Amino acid sequence: MPLSFILRAMLLPKNLLRMTAIFVFTSVLAFSQAAPSWKVKPEWVRAHEMFLASDALRGRGSATPDELLAATYVASQFKRLGIKPGLPDGSYIQRVQLVEPVIQGKVTIAPSHPSNFAPLEEGKDFSLTRTNGESASGALVKVTRENVETVAFRSGNVVLLSEDFGGQTRSLMRRAVMAGAKVILRLDASLTPAMLQERANNPAALRPHLPGSSGSVIGGGFTIVGLTGDAVTRLSKLSDGTDLSLRISAKEEPRYTYNAVGVLPGKESGKLGKAILLSAHLDHLGTGEPVNGDAIYNGANDDASGTTAVIELAHALAAGATPQRTVYFVCYGSEELGGLGSTYFREHTPVPLDQIAANLEFEMIGNQDPKMPKGRMLLTGWGRSNLGPTLVQHGALLGDDPYPEQRFFERSDNYPLALKGVVAQTAAGWGTPPTYHKPDDDIEHLNFDFMTEAIQSLIEPVRWLANSDFVPQWLPGEQPKEH
Ligand SMILES: [Zn+2]
Repeated sequence: MPLSFILRAMLLPKNLLRMTAIFVFTSVLAFSQAAPSWKVKPEWVRAHEMFLASDALRGRGSATPDELLAATYVASQFKRLGIKPGLPDGSYIQRVQLVEPVIQGKVTIAPSHPSNFAPLEEGKDFSLTRTNGESASGALVKVTRENVETVAFRSGNVVLLSEDFGGQTRSLMRRAVMAGAKVILRLDASLTPAMLQERANNPAALRPHLPGSSGSVIGGGFTIVGLTGDAVTRLSKLSDGTDLSLRISAKEEPRYTYNAVGVLPGKESGKLGKAILLSAHLDHLGTGEPVNGDAIYNGANDDASGTTAVIELAHALAAGATPQRTVYFVCYGSEELGGLGSTYFREHTPVPLDQIAANLEFEMIGNQDPKMPKGRMLLTGWGRSNLGPTLVQHGALLGDDPYPEQRFFERSDNYPLALKGVVAQTAAGWGTPPTYHKPDDDIEHLNFDFMTEAIQSLIEPVRWLANSDFVPQWLPGEQPKEH
């Protein structure tokens, strides 16, 4: 309270003085709630998106030079904001070597045991939609209109979607992959001989992976195949449970992906359980199949929006008083290939994993979810730990994930760390927007008001977390385990 005000108050009658004191007290309280110590400017948010989601970055394809451009942008923003290099060698960018399979010779599908079934051939009977380049074999499970609601999948299955299940296809494939299916064969009635031949020469289907592991913890280790109608007819004649083999011979070429890593050292740096990790992913799908003449998958929402959140949280925290805890800011590469950047990071962290108290990942915060209350984001794995409810007690606009069937908790960079015990969860806006993984996930389809407010709403709760000694815990039985 300014001194002149006190002097003036001393001249007032007693009851008026009391009223004045109440008024001053309440207005100070109102002021402290209404005016946050930091205000995120909409133009900062827009500026990051203007670059990251621009056509110049060609969709920030995983493990491409475009992804490195995005990582370099994040690193240069960290530098500008006073965020220190997060890696022990004094750099901001962690280069991660991947291997990319390069197919040698013909890929075939046939029963594993000798039979009179003439093998199906790539380029003639099918095309590879995506593959890690590894041969696989397993028991055939045929999905038809009759059994689609009840069919069960097991680890190692080769799944045949013998009809076009339309909007159900994606969730069917997800169910199969989550159960551990290795190969998914699906009818693609649109395949023409010319397309089959062209795709056989197109290496886009090949999925880079970390050396020594063909898959990934977010489920990268499977192959999807598009089949002609004739090929489906032939496979449908085999009985369920037939051991079916996909035969691929591939050599491995090196590819690189990039994580941008910054750190704001806290006053208590070095104490156990004290660091906080704020993260997002840099990459998106790059260029691909054109939709309405647009072949650039800009990923403005997925996940330039989360990357923007990490930069602006770094901005706010670096501009304030030094926090008690050390805060790491990490934007990963190759999330879209199955969390490869984050899986590498968890094995090569600048601090031991057990010194990370919590990880918050930010994904797709560019739109309001129609199922969530206005202005509120969902937190994946809400009921698994006490992190979300505690952040809400400190003002966070977070809530339970209304899409349990989507298994979002297992579908982002939080998951590889969660599997190693770190309480790691993802805050997201609209979980299932119509622009998801489409070329029109671009700046025009972002809700900048929502996004700016979403970032703003996270600042004080994150600042609290960085200054508290709160160590979130998994609730009993809720810590995820590697299957
Ligand atoms: Zn994403």
